[in-house]
Amino acid sequence: MIGMKKEYDVLIVGSGVAGVYAALNLEPDVSVLVVSKRELTLCNSFLAQGGVAAVIDKENDHYRLHIADTLIAGGYKNDLHSLQILVNEGPEDVLRIMKHMDVDFDREGDRVKMTLEGGHSRRRILHHKDSTGREMTEKLIAEAKKRDNITMVENTQLCSLTPCDGGFWALLLQDDEPIQIACSYCVLCTGGIGRVYPYTTNSAIATGDGIAIAHEIGAKVKNLHLVQFHPTAFAAEQGRERFLISEAVRGEGAKLLNAAEEEFMHRYDERGALAPRDVVSRCIIQESKRQGSETFYLDIRHKGEEFIKDHFPMIYARCLEEGVDITKDLIPVFPCTHYLMGGIDVGIFSNTAVDRLYAAGECAHTGVHGANRLASNSLLEALVFSRRATYDISRRMRHEQSGVTVPPPAIPTGDKPLPKGYRTTIRNIMQKAWFVEPDLDAAREGLRVANDILHDLCVGGYKLTSDYIEAKSLATVCVIILKELLEEA
Ligand SMILES: Cc1cc2nc3c(=O)[nH]c(=O)nc-3n(C[C@H](O)[C@H](O)[C@H](O)COP(=O)(O)OP(=O)(O)OC[C@H]3O[C@@H](n4cnc5c(N)ncnc54)[C@H](O)[C@@H]3O)c2cc1C
Repeated sequence: MIGMKKEYDVLIVGSGVAGVYAALNLEPDVSVLVVSKRELTLCNSFLAQGGVAAVIDKENDHYRLHIADTLIAGGYKNDLHSLQILVNEGPEDVLRIMKHMDVDFDREGDRVKMTLEGGHSRRRILHHKDSTGREMTEKLIAEAKKRDNITMVENTQLCSLTPCDGGFWALLLQDDEPIQIACSYCVLCTGGIGRVYPYTTNSAIATGDGIAIAHEIGAKVKNLHLVQFHPTAFAAEQGRERFLISEAVRGEGAKLLNAAEEEFMHRYDERGALAPRDVVSRCIIQESKRQGSETFYLDIRHKGEEFIKDHFPMIYARCLEEGVDITKDLIPVFPCTHYLMGGIDVGIFSNTAVDRLYAAGECAHTGVHGANRLASNSLLEALVFSRRATYDISRRMRHEQSGVTVPPPAIPTGDKPLPKGYRTTIRNIMQKAWFVEPDLDAAREGLRVANDILHDLCVGGYKLTSDYIEAKSLATVCVIILKELLEEA
């Protein structure tokens, strides 16, 4: 058991922005374990490019406008109370990480520089060039490493939680070895589910483990079928992970072109290329059917080499690796899975239906996004609602007896190897049943197959490995999504 004790006050699962910011908000006398299933920085937070939205510039912006923009993007399906909390409290968190945790946002003189993204009516996106997530993740992790009460361990995967009086037993796999630790509270910050599809912008960790584990012990999971497809992922010829061409590129004037190199968005929506993501993705699919080709481009060449390299150094370098010089060439793009609006259903203190279990960040459903997330609202959500989880935990720790007194449950002893192909089958089911537009016949057939796979994974006596846990998570997520999709229809 490398670097861990047997018992902690709080177990935080995930070292992205939500997990690490939660750890940083707990009192110094609270013992905290943060586990990350791979390296600390392998997460969606690290990949975030565009930035974090917050009403900092009060002369030109207002909370009401940020709320209105979020409601429009979300199709008015948002939870208004949670959204008000997000927009009203968010600026404080953003200023705090900037002033007290050394997070560096781009500046113009002594003012923070704001950019514009699709769906925002004001320039309110704070950013660090085009690698905001990397800046936030690295600085927050560096801050957490300074704290004596926080232990952070890599390559340690949560496999299951067993609720008991006073807390949980958590079954972890560390370098393939099963370990059990006890905790009084657990905060799941395990991120999204992009890897349930064949192509995604998400990092390899995004297999929905936290959602599946919470579901298994009775937490409510809501709106898991609300998957966001980003319209402009780099259309690479190979590989599962699609590099994102951030909305900020369109925000700064890039044109979205069809195979004939013509702008086409105004044919479908008067907001053009800066319409919300779901709209742009649907328009691309419609245009794709009309033109009989999946070839689409972004064109930012007219902004000039200096501007492009200054504003989008990471995108420039990454595209160059793929053989595309964005100062001279068109950028090939196509939609793919990007973000999950639904998740483990939580209250305004990130509390789930299971006592002492909290969820924050992309794995949680706070309701702030409604049916479709407005760009750059998710890092803000990760900050605000992970902090709010710690308020509730701190309050309870002052008033309640905690600590697990029962012995740990038996560790599963299955020894069969995971059959090949289950994960690929699940991914293909999802792509056919629900990519930009749902296909209900494919969803019905896919649900039958996914249910069979999930059943086999639960009773088949398989060896406890990281691949096995991820396969079970993907199958669970697929089954929940398809059931919801069919119920909605
Ligand atoms: C390419 C890209 C660009 C984006 N750009 C933006 C943007 O500009 N602005 C914005 O607001 N949002 C953006 N997003 C979305 C945003 O980055 C994420 O929603 C947010 O960072 C999620 O943070 P998180 O802490 O919830 O999850 P993550 O950062 O994904 O962290 C999840 C953590 O959970 C751990 N984990 C998962 N399962 C287990 C397990 N079983 N056991 C142990 N650990 C586990 C992982 O190892 C990881 O440490 C972008 C997303 C992507 C993919």
